[in-house]
Amino acid sequence: MADVIMKHIRKSYGNFDAVEDADFHIHSGEFFTLLGPSGCGKTTTLRMIAGFSFPTSGKIFFDDREVTTLAPNKRDIGMVFQNYALFPHLTIGENVAFGLKVRKVDKALRQKKVAEALEKVHLGGYENRKVHEISGGQQQRVALARALVIEPAILLLDEPLSNLDAKLRDDTRSEIKRLQRELNITTIYVTHDQAEAMAVSDRILIMKSGATQQLGAPCDVYYRPENRFVAEFIGKYTVLDAIVESVEGQLVTIALKDGTRLQGLEENRAPGVSFEKGRHVQVALRPECVELPQGRKENLIEGRVLHCEFTGMSANYLLDVAGQPLKATFVNHVPDAGAIGKSVTVCVPVKRMYFLKGDEQP
Ligand code: ATP
Repeated sequence: MADVIMKHIRKSYGNFDAVEDADFHIHSGEFFTLLGPSGCGKTTTLRMIAGFSFPTSGKIFFDDREVTTLAPNKRDIGMVFQNYALFPHLTIGENVAFGLKVRKVDKALRQKKVAEALEKVHLGGYENRKVHEISGGQQQRVALARALVIEPAILLLDEPLSNLDAKLRDDTRSEIKRLQRELNITTIYVTHDQAEAMAVSDRILIMKSGATQQLGAPCDVYYRPENRFVAEFIGKYTVLDAIVESVEGQLVTIALKDGTRLQGLEENRAPGVSFEKGRHVQVALRPECVELPQGRKENLIEGRVLHCEFTGMSANYLLDVAGQPLKATFVNHVPDAGAIGKSVTVCVPVKRMYFLKGDEQP
């Protein structure tokens, strides 16, 4: 267990900044995720923590030990990669024992530790199997056992589930989380999958084009996104342009482009949002907060159905609202066969309205 402290880390390739000013503190025993779309700098950040590449500027500390340019084998880390990276010519047991052998642990202790590590990932007794004799999910669990057997202070996982099919992905995800809790090991996890990040993490760092967008617990980034990118990436929010009409006490009234008036609470806003009359703001709505009115009169929005799909648990709609798309998800709802092209009225409860900074400020 160790804290990982990144101090103003930048990584440049020529004129291009793959990571700019990464500045965060991961606490001992925390499950911390680097999340963002392809190319945002997640792997580059993880590789600097592992010691496979060094920052252009800034410093990295494990507790109070500076490790910025320390070799990977001196950092006390275990790492699991996307492609398992097992040695195909070695048995499962030999694969797991690898790090212990390098550390010159004697044979009897090695065997004991390997057996324990395989037990932990529910592969007890698999020592003599060959890599090609086990499934992808099992191979990834072997990779996890191999990383954990050396009892590292920090576990680094780079998209460990992306080569697995959906069911195995869920099972292996739970397995990783269970082990992390049990061992209480500082874990840094890289993924581009927001649902995966939400499910396993204590905190998530969201990145875009090398820059930090937001750092917070899953419920913070979901319910209180700080900008449009985070809102759309994490919560699949619809973002609509609007202008502030008035503020009375806690109640803010805005107008959408087609003149539709909606009301929300002043407190439900991202940093930097100002509610002066005439200001451009953006209204961010999560699909599950767009509801059928069922007699309610507040915050009604008229739209036209562009698309709808039934998923069993819910129905997902895409509506056209004055030329802007709006996503809506209704649970326990089966769409009408002829719904597409029809007009529909939906509503958004006042307390579910969320405001982001407008694109253009006057
Ligand atoms: P993915 O999810 O696709 O793995 P990522 O978020 O992990 O993406 P990185 O691999 O960290 O992204 O890459 C960040 C950016 O840095 C990308 O634009 C990539 O092309 C660039 N990059 C990474 N390594 C190098 C390198 N050695 N030389 C030049 N550019 C690089």
